Amino acid sequence: MAAITTHQLVKEYPGGVRAVDGLDLTIEDGEFFALLGPSGCGKTTLLRTIAGLETATAGGLSIGARDVTALPPGDRRVAMVFQDYALFPHMTVADNIAYPLKIQKVDRSSRLATAEDVAAGLSLAGLTARRPGQLSGGQQQRVALARAVASKPDVFLFDEPLSNLDARLRLEARTFLKRLQSDLGVTTVFVTHDQAEALALADRIAIMRTGRIQQVGSPRDVFRRPANTFVAGFAGSTPMNLHPGVVASGRVTVAGASLPLPPGLSLPDGAAVIWGARPEYLRWSTAPAGDAIGGTVTVVENLGASVLVTVEAADGVLVQVVVDEDEEPAPGVAGFVAVRPERTLLFDAESEELLEPVAAAA
Ligand code: ADP
Ligand code: MG
Repeated sequence: MAAITTHQLVKEYPGGVRAVDGLDLTIEDGEFFALLGPSGCGKTTLLRTIAGLETATAGGLSIGARDVTALPPGDRRVAMVFQDYALFPHMTVADNIAYPLKIQKVDRSSRLATAEDVAAGLSLAGLTARRPGQLSGGQQQRVALARAVASKPDVFLFDEPLSNLDARLRLEARTFLKRLQSDLGVTTVFVTHDQAEALALADRIAIMRTGRIQQVGSPRDVFRRPANTFVAGFAGSTPMNLHPGVVASGRVTVAGASLPLPPGLSLPDGAAVIWGARPEYLRWSTAPAGDAIGGTVTVVENLGASVLVTVEAADGVLVQVVVDEDEEPAPGVAGFVAVRPERTLLFDAESEELLEPVAAAA
């Protein structure tokens, strides 16, 4: 059992930067947990504090049943993989993989046997006599993973381990990593600033901003029901459309159109909101189309099998909509962006928090 629990965890650097600002977080045993957030939000600091490479300023941390807050890194049974892999250039691949076992004082022949075993499992068989400099980036990345696996930790801590790989290798490595984690069932915290990586890999995602968690949820929750506009703008490969609106007669006026409220929401007239809809959940049509925002196509960007169309609506509001490649409109064409109320969200204009339907009174 190795869940990770933090209690009001704080890490403040000299000078007063609170990189981790009072976190209460539980990562379940065996879970693949992604920490997602922009550069500088405190992801690496949180990971290093879990690993024991940084000392918590306040609060506590347990791994499984053990309070590890005061334990040195070597006693926490965690393995960390860094962005730059941190391999020893003068050692062979086998010795690199076996290094944590050397620290654990396992004898040389059994640690090298383990290294060969783990290397074979990570498609590195035949490369174990080489040095890291004689391997490709993808292979070096797998050596770093193998080193983490060989130590049989309770927890994997990954700090942007795929970000030094080129785009295609990165996708391969991502699939590989997901399979490895699910085979081994080791609790994993995976740090990334790449929302696509977090959505693809994780059982649950925590979105972080300036040392605080904004939302914890499944990839689906975070994508479909972001807790606030920050999360809405951060998760998703094309940014969510977010525009100011005002409630009038049980509808919301946005970009010159009067649109239905999302199902279950009722708001007083005059309420100031931010209307949100993902470009993937909108439809483009040149014919009038029920609940829709009218406008003119200004930009068309190719996404491969689809295109991202920017439509200029009333008051210069720009609405983006994903359109199938076969229905690509030309710039200058006028038409309508049709809205599905069940796929739109409203946020409070002031707090920027998602407005949730209130359960009907019994
Ligand atoms: P991330 O990994 O999300 O990019 P970091 O954890 O590296 O973020 O940094 C979080 C904040 O802490 C940033 O404001 C950064 O400048 C600051 N910081 C990181 N390391 C140190 C340090 N050793 N001393 C002082 N401030 C630091
Ligand atoms: Mg970092």
